[in-house]
Amino acid sequence: MGEYDVVVAGLGPAGTVALWHLARRGFRVIGVDMRGPGTLWGKPCGDALGAHHVREAGLPPLPSAVVKNRVEAIDVYSPGEKVRYRVRGEGYIIDREAMGKWLLEDAVNHGAEVLLSTHIVAPLIEKGRVVGVRARGGGGPVELRGRLVVEATGFTRVLRSKLPGEWPIAEDISSEDTNIAYREVIVYEDYEVEEPSVIRIYIDQELAPGGYWWFFPESPTSVNAGVGVQASLGINPRERYQRLVKTHRLFSRRFHVAKAAGAPLPTRRPSNSMVGPGIVAIGDAAYTVNPLHGGGMGYAFRAAYIAARVFEEAYEAGDISVEALWRLNVEYMRAIGARQAALDVFRIFLQRLSNSDISYGMEKRLIPEQDIYYTSSEGDISVSVIEKLNIILRGLRRPSLLARLKTVAHYMKLVKKHYNAYPDTPAGLKSWVRRLEEIYAEYRSKLG
Ligand SMILES: Cc1cc2nc3c(=O)[nH]c(=O)nc-3n(C[C@H](O)[C@H](O)[C@H](O)COP(=O)(O)OP(=O)(O)OC[C@H]3O[C@@H](n4cnc5c(N)ncnc54)[C@H](O)[C@@H]3O)c2cc1C
Repeated sequence: MGEYDVVVAGLGPAGTVALWHLARRGFRVIGVDMRGPGTLWGKPCGDALGAHHVREAGLPPLPSAVVKNRVEAIDVYSPGEKVRYRVRGEGYIIDREAMGKWLLEDAVNHGAEVLLSTHIVAPLIEKGRVVGVRARGGGGPVELRGRLVVEATGFTRVLRSKLPGEWPIAEDISSEDTNIAYREVIVYEDYEVEEPSVIRIYIDQELAPGGYWWFFPESPTSVNAGVGVQASLGINPRERYQRLVKTHRLFSRRFHVAKAAGAPLPTRRPSNSMVGPGIVAIGDAAYTVNPLHGGGMGYAFRAAYIAARVFEEAYEAGDISVEALWRLNVEYMRAIGARQAALDVFRIFLQRLSNSDISYGMEKRLIPEQDIYYTSSEGDISVSVIEKLNIILRGLRRPSLLARLKTVAHYMKLVKKHYNAYPDTPAGLKSWVRRLEEIYAEYRSKLG
């Protein structure tokens, strides 16, 4: 097959948005996915998307066919559901398949080529550089060559898992930094959900250790509900979901199941480098998910947008070296990665807390409701909160929790600062990673 400017491997949220931006910029681009046309973007998901992501990824407003439900707030429940935080924010429950189709059709109208029902097998590497991909479709094996390959095969990381181990982009992920989630879309037969514009997250370290369970209305009568757990614990989230369905009042009404499936997702700071020779990784393949709530579509879009802009500039300058593409790392890490890393620090702390600690913290409003949005979007616990915590926790005689929270806030700041100083060139990466690993090791040992 012919030579392309860019070969996009995987046409989920990351790959499709990359394809869309590249086609609109006039590049000769091809997207490949193992799924067929009716199942693109069909990976299991909660389907919740913050409205700001669409704007920030340079996409046009979502057409009505893509929006299943408009979201106005997220309710976060404490273990036992005694306390509820309401966090306001505009968002959607999207129809993923419809969104994929909408963007893909527009990309094709702008000249993109698409190869579906085709399995990518491996990267083509020549003279120390990725020059394309090997794939297998109905017509047999194919080779697709491009000046750049975009690795967007999601958590399976088909390409990056086959890159030379010494390339920083080949960095693996541990099961402690991974969640595994199972979800069903249920349709009530004689019940309407209260406040369908509010999606709900339930924290319960016994039912969903290291994760949470969710209840996201798609409409007054249909709901996307699921359970996510920390993968290293070896727990089956489907079994936990079934336990929930048997015991929780929200599932006591009559319903039928419209969809059911599970999948793993990364829940840590982004990959240390998203750039390699002839290849960039975006979306779940680059661990760009929000470590705290597991939302990954918006960040997959943003990474795809930055990657397309950076490629365009590199192409125009006639230099598609790692050095020239490095701006993807710098832009992503400083704009988004710094916050995600700080949230990763917070996530590690939360996963160590018991139901009783979390209930206590939420009941006493140790992090007040209005600060939850700030903390979860900015990756910071504000100074006023820390000052307030000093007073409350001393008064309540919980010095160990106070000390741990201070440690968390300190390392959130430290790691964020470190990401804001992400190296401008590949030459600085090694020492930057070394320091990052030291920060994490220190933090984990202080938390105990
Ligand atoms: C149960 C669950 C609930 C979630 N809920 C939410 C949520 O509510 N909101 C949110 O924003 N995020 C959520 N996420 C995360 C979100 O789904 C991902 O972050 C997002 O889909 C990442 O997009 P991606 O394009 O990087 O990867 P994917 O969506 O995984 O897409 C990868 C694409 O690559 C293709 N591919 C893989 N291997 C090959 C191969 N060998 N050959 C060819 N093609 C290949 C796949 O077919 C797929 O189309 C959830 C995840 C899970 C598991």
